Amino acid sequence: MDPPKILVIDDEEIARISCERVLKREGIRVTLASGGREGLDVLMRDPHDLVLVDLKMPEMDGMEVTRRIRALDPNIVAIIITGYATIESAVAVMKEGAYDYLPKPFTPDELLIVVRRGLEKRRLDRESRALREEKEAMERNFITMVTHQLRSPLAAIYQYLEVLLSDLGGELGEMQREMIERARERLEGLLELINDWLDMSRIRAGEIVDRLRAVALRTCVDAALAGLELSARERGVSVSTAIPPDLPEVMVDPESFREALSNVISNAVKYNREGGRIWIRAMERDGWVVVEVEDTGYGIREAEIPFIFEQFYRSKASEIRRQQGTGLGLSIIRKILQAHGGKVEVRSELGKGTTFSLFINKA
Ligand code: ADP
Repeated sequence: MDPPKILVIDDEEIARISCERVLKREGIRVTLASGGREGLDVLMRDPHDLVLVDLKMPEMDGMEVTRRIRALDPNIVAIIITGYATIESAVAVMKEGAYDYLPKPFTPDELLIVVRRGLEKRRLDRESRALREEKEAMERNFITMVTHQLRSPLAAIYQYLEVLLSDLGGELGEMQREMIERARERLEGLLELINDWLDMSRIRAGEIVDRLRAVALRTCVDAALAGLELSARERGVSVSTAIPPDLPEVMVDPESFREALSNVISNAVKYNREGGRIWIRAMERDGWVVVEVEDTGYGIREAEIPFIFEQFYRSKASEIRRQQGTGLGLSIIRKILQAHGGKVEVRSELGKGTTFSLFINKA
């Protein structure tokens, strides 16, 4: 590993030189600058691990220097050198992002203690950044692995089972049909889990922000409803929408917002009673555009409400357990809404119904 690099910014030559002497003895590479501007120039050309900044300098004070250095390189460790009387201003500089301070006059040992601690922080920061990057790369690999190695063959098996069930592979006996139907159902559950899991891992806040654009809410609701008409009809659930024509447009990533909406609506269908109703309403409230999805379904026990947005959480109630599900839908919804700078809320009454409200920014 390369020896650490430290920049010393101090207007007093004697102070710079004595720091340099102490640090060099430790095998540290040292650069000296007599003021903030010179120091910033050095850092622009050649990033350093740590910077020692004198607080009181005529040209640009240590406070301003630290602020600019941190803006230039947020990972650099900044340590402030300060006189006895200015501990208060040292605290202020720490608020600007300095890591530590060193009161003057200091002994070589005192300097080394503070510098070693700073370099250790730099090392730990680097390590945790590397680990985070490694974890993200592993997640990406995992997603690709799941998509190609698991989902594709499972989808193929599913299609073969469909072919068998349509008697294209020869007539099936009662028992065979029942067994294949059961296999298909289990496979459906597994595919749903894989798809939800992939959706969950794909949502990255930064990417959603990049794709935000002004869209009419009506378009998103219609797109979400299009995929759910069949299942609503099968359960005899009727859906009505009330979206004012003069509602402001919303700032969304249309694809992921449609997914959040269709997750909420599909729950309202799934956990509704036979012949129940769903109302989708939109309105402006407290500076947000709010979409409410109300159903006449089983409702959620109050004690369960804090848990329903957690990954894999499903109610223990038997009418809920009868429906196929992964327990990922609401955590996907919440993640999508948060990435949009919005939020999701729920009100529910057991046995009567549930209302989910999605809060989203206006365009
Ligand atoms: P899943 O629907 O796959 O179980 P979700 O994350 O979408 O997973 O929902 C988590 C749990 O929240 C559900 O299992 C259910 O208990 C409850 N829930 C969600 N939406 C509704 C709803 N509209 N009515 C009643 N319960 C609901």
